[in-house]
Amino acid sequence: MTMHFPSGFLSRAHRARAAGEAAGTPPLPGTRAEEARRALLERIADFIIQHDLAVTANNLASVCGGLSGANPELAQAFATREIAGEPIDQRWLDTLARIDPDGHARIAELETLMDKLEYALMRFAQTAHSAQTETSVHRGAIGVQIEAMAAPADIAEVLDLSRAMLARIEQVEAAMARSEAETAQLRDNLAKARMEADVDHLTRLPNRRAFERRLMSAAMEARAKDEPLSLAFCDLDHFKAINDRHGHEAGDRVLCAMAAGLIEYAGDSFFVARHGGEEFVLLFYGLDKDAARQRVDAMRCAQAARQLSNRETGQPFGRITFSAGIAEVTEDADTRSALTRADAALYRAKQEGRNRVVVG
Ligand code: GH3
Ligand code: MG
Ligand code: MG
Repeated sequence: MTMHFPSGFLSRAHRARAAGEAAGTPPLPGTRAEEARRALLERIADFIIQHDLAVTANNLASVCGGLSGANPELAQAFATREIAGEPIDQRWLDTLARIDPDGHARIAELETLMDKLEYALMRFAQTAHSAQTETSVHRGAIGVQIEAMAAPADIAEVLDLSRAMLARIEQVEAAMARSEAETAQLRDNLAKARMEADVDHLTRLPNRRAFERRLMSAAMEARAKDEPLSLAFCDLDHFKAINDRHGHEAGDRVLCAMAAGLIEYAGDSFFVARHGGEEFVLLFYGLDKDAARQRVDAMRCAQAARQLSNRETGQPFGRITFSAGIAEVTEDADTRSALTRADAALYRAKQEGRNRVVVG
């Protein structure tokens, strides 16, 4: 059966090789496995260049996952996107929740911990059960002895049984204490891993996963109280140029500075998270979209007025602005539709010239 791949799925080199092989050209030297690895690397490189993606660890991991087939969902997403003729750009890549390899590792860690916790709890329950069984057997035996006691000689036997029972109870108690300590340690690790899984490793802001949970609970609460709830997507303007001019590490520092600015501005009055890449998301409790727009616009002005420079080189970064799209979550019964509306508004803000806030 002939497989038909969209253009990005076979690199130029790959296609040339396939054509050469078809024409009877001898295969390239090297083992088959080596060749396959080389071909995959070439396809990854071609894909990154063709779609004008940055060479970052996250991008490499995603593209590798998608092209090698190790991540079938990503492979499917790439193919669907290419067939639909839609761009595979950084923005789209960043919005795919499942491309975050750190996230994957953290979820895997959580799952392992949960399994361990479950196992420890099961062992704890078994220990408790066998302790109960053993003590009741001993108790029964002593009871029978006491009932049947006819001569003083029987007292020695009851004493022996009691001593054995005490020793066993002590052993069981020690085992239970160990199980309890182990379970407490696991619970502690689990709580820490849960917290880590919700935090963005670069900015230490809550990540997209944490935001989505918060959005759902805040929407439920707002509807119950009949209060408005709004959200904003804020995306740095021309951020790729910062990376290109100053390097990726300087870009990282700009993201951290942006995160710190947002946290400072937010205080306790709203929730800020890093949605992915150079995009942040804010949740405004009790604010309708116009009030939220005012807040975001004030932040936009403050950000545009900040002077940041590259601490490694002393070079100024120039004006770093962001564009934002706002939606009122409580306007629609479908909470998730607010994400689409805010995203569309952000797209309009970009189209209309950037460094502005648009309400969806
Ligand atoms: P626009 O104004 O249209 O948003 O342009 P842009 O350049 O900001 O947007 P684009 O989506 O083309 O590029 C986003 C860039 O953000 C490309 C990507 O490498 C960079 N980026 C994403 N995550 C990180 C990160 O964690 N650190 C750094 N330094 N750069 C990142
Ligand atoms: Mg973006
Ligand atoms: Mg941007």
